[in-house]
Amino acid sequence: MTDTHSHLNDPKLMRSLDEVVRRAKEWGVGRINVVGYDIPSSERAIDIARRYDGVYAVVGLHPYEAERYDEGTLARLETLLGLPEVVAVGEIGLDYYRGPDDRKAQRELFIAQISLAERYSLPVVLHVRDAFEDTLAIVGDFPNVPFVFHSFSGDARMLERVVAEANRYVSFSGMITFLGHVRAAARISPRERTFVETDAPYLAPVPKRGRRNEPAYVKFVLEALADLWNVDFAEAEALTDGNALRFFRFGER
Ligand SMILES: [Zn+2]
Repeated sequence: MTDTHSHLNDPKLMRSLDEVVRRAKEWGVGRINVVGYDIPSSERAIDIARRYDGVYAVVGLHPYEAERYDEGTLARLETLLGLPEVVAVGEIGLDYYRGPDDRKAQRELFIAQISLAERYSLPVVLHVRDAFEDTLAIVGDFPNVPFVFHSFSGDARMLERVVAEANRYVSFSGMITFLGHVRAAARISPRERTFVETDAPYLAPVPKRGRRNEPAYVKFVLEALADLWNVDFAEAEALTDGNALRFFRFGER
């Protein structure tokens, strides 16, 4: 199994990293991505990736950084992109939940980071909240960059629009264990462009819902996906592991 999106760099998980990573291995999770949201969390992701086999870093500035960053921040991010532990730029994107004030700044930061990903031949992990149309429009300008819509929370119609282009992937979290419209989207998600994640410590899947999430629990997400696809667990695992490997090119840098 591959947990394509966790925040082992979150203080809630940092305290028990050895135990959390060991449990993931015991449960059969061979690869874990640790995803940053600002410079310090991205640097922590790289530190953690250096400490454990099969753990990789995703580095980037979350849209809520849009009113804080400057040229120095982007330059600092760029120095991280060449490191061998880094497999993608993320989580980046647009988040319009808080209101309209910083939307223009968010779009500028988003586009600047996609351009960096393109320059370093890295895929992009997208955070999208209440900003689906603007995200699709921007992503559409970069046909050569692989994108994944992380913790996809849309319905089947939105999913069809995401996967209409071959460079776009979808990652499902624990939401597919409890949210009907996301389950409907997962059911029709293309077998060759889908993978799974925990988004730990958030979004724990049933039967751990409400608890602190951790990468081992990606097993419950994958069980739900296998069920929705009507395939056995081993087949769902082989498909999603293969897709994640093709997307993130683990170990190739
Ligand atoms: Zn996340």
